[in-house]
Amino acid sequence: TNTGGSGSGGGGGGIMTRVPGGVRGKRKRVVVTGGAGFVGSHLVDRLIERGDSVIVVDNMFTGRKDNLLHHIGNPNFELIRHDVVQPILLEVDQIYHLACPASPVYYKFNPTNVMGTLNMLGLAKRVGARFLLTSTSEVYGDPLQHPQAETYWGHVNPIGVRSCYDEGKRTAETLAMDYHRGAGIEVRIARIFNTYGPRMCLDDGRVVSNFVAQALRKEPLTVYGDGKQTRSFQYVSDLVEGLMRLMEGEHIGPFNLGNPGEFTMLELAQVVQETIDPNAKIEYRPNTEDDPHKRKPDISKAKELLGWQPTVSLREGLPRMVADFRQRLSGESKGSVS
Ligand code: NAD
Ligand code: UDP
Ligand code: UDP
Repeated sequence: TNTGGSGSGGGGGGIMTRVPGGVRGKRKRVVVTGGAGFVGSHLVDRLIERGDSVIVVDNMFTGRKDNLLHHIGNPNFELIRHDVVQPILLEVDQIYHLACPASPVYYKFNPTNVMGTLNMLGLAKRVGARFLLTSTSEVYGDPLQHPQAETYWGHVNPIGVRSCYDEGKRTAETLAMDYHRGAGIEVRIARIFNTYGPRMCLDDGRVVSNFVAQALRKEPLTVYGDGKQTRSFQYVSDLVEGLMRLMEGEHIGPFNLGNPGEFTMLELAQVVQETIDPNAKIEYRPNTEDDPHKRKPDISKAKELLGWQPTVSLREGLPRMVADFRQRLSGESKGSVS
């Protein structure tokens, strides 16, 4: 395999060539931080399938080796256990920066968004790689504009319980733009809206994974607050397609990547009931502080400039996730018997 080739998209070994998508015939060297996680592992599948040489950097905080087992032994794949809060030296052409404690249960713990992003930008600067940041719709906070377009600056409580995530990602966007303006780094920014699919963490507290796991375990679906708050749910393969188009394209962004189909949490509970168990009960719980009341992406910009839009509806995507959860949960109950 060729992991030493220089001159492909974004340059290698400090050579700054501006060839989008890389020189044909040369294997691209791509780092995916957070590649053992939910979104990252699906992205790795696509990059490997395309013939890239992929290095995953992940501290396994919420990621799982299981998500990548099928690539172990492939000479074009490497898994490095490393916390991106610490510097790292690699020679690569592209960096997809996903590492982040992304779920509400975990994201309070860690300065990954700021320190990790800084280190990956430093790496991009040293080797002339192109850098893609996975930011989030949370940068819009509890939005006063609906649906949210990229031009909206957001409504975020800087001292609230969610702020290390929201503000961490906002800072990450700022760092990316500063490295772009100050050091000429090629950056790309995606603002990802709620995404679901196979390999999601079973118990990280996000609503789709909670409802699906609860319905399969014959537990009540926990609806927080009155259940009238809305979200827009995107299937993971649509997101990965959008991320790859963004990386290969000529536009910095930010770009909203999400599915504009908007659901209240009660409507989501209903879709889960229809898909898994019509008799599943609903149990109301107090809502978390600063919970955004509604969220729906305006994706006009991604449609126009990336030629991208989602293709999988919630009713099509949910059964694919349920099949994966069913299998993983059956392993869980076998484990508890033995
Ligand atoms: P995930 O938790 O499944 O994946 C995150 C990965 O990052 C995990 O494998 C974890 O072990 C790793 N990680 C965390 N801290 C790290 C560190 N300090 N060093 C190295 N690795 C570290 O979450 P995901 O849903 O796959 O999210 C991926 C990215 O997409 C995140 O940046 C997240 O903020 C963003 N995003 C996701 C969603 C969504 O709905 N899934 C929405 C908006 C944004
Ligand atoms: N960095 C890294 N890998 C590299 C280059 C830099 O992890 O290949 C880290 C570096 O340790 C620093 C951060 O990225 O903490 C920012 O690097 P930069 O060169 O931009 O800043 P400086 O070191 O000049 O403050
Ligand atoms: N939520 C819920 N039940 C759950 C988990 C979450 O009703 O078991 C609600 C939560 O209050 C929020 C919405 O679902 O209004 C989406 O929550 P999630 O944490 O999945 O995503 P985010 O708030 O980051 O969009």
